[in-house]
Amino acid sequence: MGLRISSCVIALIQQAAAEAAPLEACGLLFGDGAIARASVAANVAADPTCRFEIDPGALIAALRAEREGGERVIGYWHSHPSGDAMPSATDAAMAAPDGKLWLIAAGGAVTVWRAGTAGLHGRFERVMEIEVVSQFEF
Ligand SMILES: [Zn+2]
Repeated sequence: MGLRISSCVIALIQQAAAEAAPLEACGLLFGDGAIARASVAANVAADPTCRFEIDPGALIAALRAEREGGERVIGYWHSHPSGDAMPSATDAAMAAPDGKLWLIAAGGAVTVWRAGTAGLHGRFERVMEIEVVSQFEF
């Protein structure tokens, strides 16, 4: 079975990416073994046209909530307004080897990568099997 992603997550990310263009949009992914929910965070990068940096306040709040028994932070997402849905060299350099999922949205497509393994694309290993499911199937 592939990695399950809620169809609501895909819809939210594609809408946020379209609204943010030509800047990169970004946010957090929540779920336990599957991507059940996404949040939209401010991109506080110095040059948000080609970089992203999730608002540290949002990140810290999510990690604190997770520690206190809340939703698990399973990864991060961002958009490439003018690129393809492949991790950039910057993405590979930024990724901590923490096993988190990286979802990249570009040109109506979505790809998912797992950080922390030595793959063909820097530290990322692509998650090939993705299954988009309705929210009620979780
Ligand atoms: Zn990127």
